[in-house]
Amino acid sequence: MIAQDYTRVKDYLNKTKLKSLDYVINPYVGCPHKCLYCYASYMSSFSKHTESWGDFIDVKCTNKKINIFKIKGKKVQISTVTDPYNNFEKEFGVTRKVLEQLIKSEALISIVTKSDLVLRDIDLFKQMKHIDVGVSISMLDEDLKVKLEPNSSSIAQRIETLKVLKSEGIKTVCYISPIIPGITVFEKIVEATKDYVDEYCFDKLDLRSSFKTKMFNFIKQEHKDLIPLYDAIYVKKTSDYFEKTTDEIANYCNKNNLKYNIKYHN
Ligand code: SF4
Repeated sequence: MIAQDYTRVKDYLNKTKLKSLDYVINPYVGCPHKCLYCYASYMSSFSKHTESWGDFIDVKCTNKKINIFKIKGKKVQISTVTDPYNNFEKEFGVTRKVLEQLIKSEALISIVTKSDLVLRDIDLFKQMKHIDVGVSISMLDEDLKVKLEPNSSSIAQRIETLKVLKSEGIKTVCYISPIIPGITVFEKIVEATKDYVDEYCFDKLDLRSSFKTKMFNFIKQEHKDLIPLYDAIYVKKTSDYFEKTTDEIANYCNKNNLKYNIKYHN
């Protein structure tokens, strides 16, 4: 049972310090997708809820219209600390209302989701000047997905989502993000999606605070063989693994003529 409430905000649009973006829009506080590794759990401190991250959601409300002139030519991502197509979007439609306001904007809008509900808004995407729609995939194994990303769409649904978006003429991005050390095999994800993807975007798993403990417990229970690797990356803070992975991604994408971006946020 997810605790639900409303929160009044000044503006849906927020400026961001993330280097690759200018603005972010997070229509909700909280994310019922409840991924085990979720970096956004620090957002709990912006809510009055006492429930754990993943067990509450605040629906953002405001009467302020989005100033589309302010974001002309700017990079705007929906979203960064929630999934804009989490299950509550079916009922509250905040993401859809935001997109309706952005139809005439000349912002460079990127959507990122793990849900096939995004297909509902194809009619709006088709009216927008600059939009790319991204689906995040970190693994192909459905059993593992259930353990790590319990409430989001299945991997098969996400691949189908990319396929439908592409067939409807929408620019698609596959976010291989986060790259989960020892678990994400990026080449296999590319193989399974490349016919429906215009661009790949890579980011690494960042582990801090409570979700570091959760992921370490998961690794101890399910992947004992990976304990030395996780110790090296997240305790001893060595950079070898991701340096090697970055080279592998660049070599693979260049060899296969794939458009790609490596955006490591920390
Ligand atoms: S979908 Fe994104 S924001 Fe939501 S729980 Fe998963 S990682 Fe966090």
